[in-house]
Amino acid sequence: MDAVEVTISEVGPRDGLQNTKSFMPTAAKKAWISAEAAAGVHEIEVCSFVPAKLIPQFVDAEEVLAHANSVDGLTAVVLVPNLKGCERAIGAGARRITVPVSVSEAHSMSNVRKTTAQAIEEFVRMADLVRSQPKGKRPQLVGACSTAFGCSLQGVVAEQDVLRVALALRAAGADSISLADTVGYANPEQVKRLFGSVRKAIGEDFAIEAHFHNTRGLGLANALAAYEAGVRNFDSTLGGLGGCPWAPGASGNVVTEDLVFMFESMGVRTGVDINKLIEVRNTVFAALPDAELYGHISKAGLPKGFRPLSLAA
Ligand SMILES: [Zn+2]
Repeated sequence: MDAVEVTISEVGPRDGLQNTKSFMPTAAKKAWISAEAAAGVHEIEVCSFVPAKLIPQFVDAEEVLAHANSVDGLTAVVLVPNLKGCERAIGAGARRITVPVSVSEAHSMSNVRKTTAQAIEEFVRMADLVRSQPKGKRPQLVGACSTAFGCSLQGVVAEQDVLRVALALRAAGADSISLADTVGYANPEQVKRLFGSVRKAIGEDFAIEAHFHNTRGLGLANALAAYEAGVRNFDSTLGGLGGCPWAPGASGNVVTEDLVFMFESMGVRTGVDINKLIEVRNTVFAALPDAELYGHISKAGLPKGFRPLSLAA
């Protein structure tokens, strides 16, 4: 079988659950992670190391990460907002850590009570901590530029600000950079332009990832534009779980099942078994009866004669 051409990075257990009202039982989170990994999703962001009093959903972060680390072939990712969270994550055995830095000053202040420059300074401290870990225990570090495509507080986010933050995170020691459309403002033309200029500035060989929300219905179109701009790692959530804290009632991230379907129908290998993935959707969300779910392919079914690449020789 040919190698996987794009990495689908499920972020539902983190981004999805962060915006879900009811607590998902720890056992159900573990079952979700195992089942989705078994369907061929080999990268899953499983929790956030934030104080439980801020986001009670992640009170079981250590336990969920320990489980995810025990799943064969799975790269478990965790999100951390600050140095304290980074220390906790490393102590809990994190192997891949995403650190968001808001390009929008207004979003940064409201989210972590730091200016963007202060958030970058904190990132440098985290990168130093990561670097100081013994060989073999050093986690990978992803620098995520949040609100890279616009901000619901500030409005327009200048491209040069995104470039400045991305370059600073790389210089600090990030192993890869992610551009995140945190509030679902991006459009495909902008996506192509911004990923193009960041890749040019940062080096075409440097790993770059895309994180889109489907708040305004352009999630898949933006993912395609990013693919065409050379991106090969995409965040999404099963059932499009989640919302946007800055847009009440809005839908969540790009829907994993629809994203997999798009790529596979284009002949781009994801390594994911879409039939299994749809089954996972049905079982996982029995544990979250009041969650609002999205997505097309799980409702409409696969086209007649559709042959998943995961089954092809
Ligand atoms: Zn997000």
